[in-house]
Amino acid sequence: MPDMKQGEHTDQANRPLIQRPSTVSRTSLIDNGMTVLQQWGADHICKVCIANSGSCCRDCRHLLDGVGCQLRNTSCTAWLCGFHKYLLFEVGQLEEWNLFWDDVPGQEFREDFTPEQVIIDKSLTIQQQTMEHLGEALAADLQEMERSHIAIGIILTLREKLDKNIDQFMLEDKDHKRKLRIKRKIKVLSSDFQRFHHLLNKYKLEQAELHNM
Ligand code: SF4
Ligand code: SF4
Repeated sequence: MPDMKQGEHTDQANRPLIQRPSTVSRTSLIDNGMTVLQQWGADHICKVCIANSGSCCRDCRHLLDGVGCQLRNTSCTAWLCGFHKYLLFEVGQLEEWNLFWDDVPGQEFREDFTPEQVIIDKSLTIQQQTMEHLGEALAADLQEMERSHIAIGIILTLREKLDKNIDQFMLEDKDHKRKLRIKRKIKVLSSDFQRFHHLLNKYKLEQAELHNM
C-alpha cells in the first residue's frame, strides 16, 4: 500500500516477526505487515503506480492529499494489488502472507473492526537483510514499460492480469496441468521485468547456497 515508511532491518537473521501463538496488538499487526512489504521494496512500486494514476487509495475518505493515509488499518495492509502479489509470489512469501492475514478478524473495505488485541497462530518472516532492491528493480521495469509502450496505462492492465492469474494459481491445488498453464501465463505476463528477474535469480541462487551450507 502507498505511504510507506522506510524499514530498518539490515542486520537480523531470517526469523518470524511474531512468535506463535501470541497475543498481538492490532497496531503491531499493521506495523509487521508494512515491515515485510517495505523489506521487499514494495513502496518503490507504489511510487511508479501512483505516478501513473494507479493509486488504490483514490477517492478514499481517509486519504489526505499530499500527506497520505490517515487511518491505516489491517484490511488495507493485508490486501495486495497485483504488483505486490507478484513480488511476494516470486520471492516465495505469498502463501505465508495469505495464511497470516486469513487469521486476522474484522477486515472490511478500507476499514477494520479488528480487536485491539488478537491471538495469532501464524507468523510473518523477516529476511536477514533488506531486499528492497528487488522492488526497486520491478518499479524500474514498470516505469520502463510505461515509457516504451504507446498504450497509456499498460502497467495498470498488467497489474490486474497478474492479480487474477496469481489468485488462480494459488487457488488451484488439484489440476496440476492447469496450475502449470497458469504459471506459464504469469511468466509471459512478467517477461518484460528484466531488471527484476536478473536480481531475483541472484537472490534465489544465494538462498539455494545458504540452504546447502
Ligand atoms: S495498487 Fe499496488 S502498487 Fe499501486 S499504489 Fe496501490 S498498493 Fe501501491
Ligand atoms: S484507508 Fe484509504 S487511504 Fe488508507 S490505505 Fe486504505 S485505501 Fe488507502
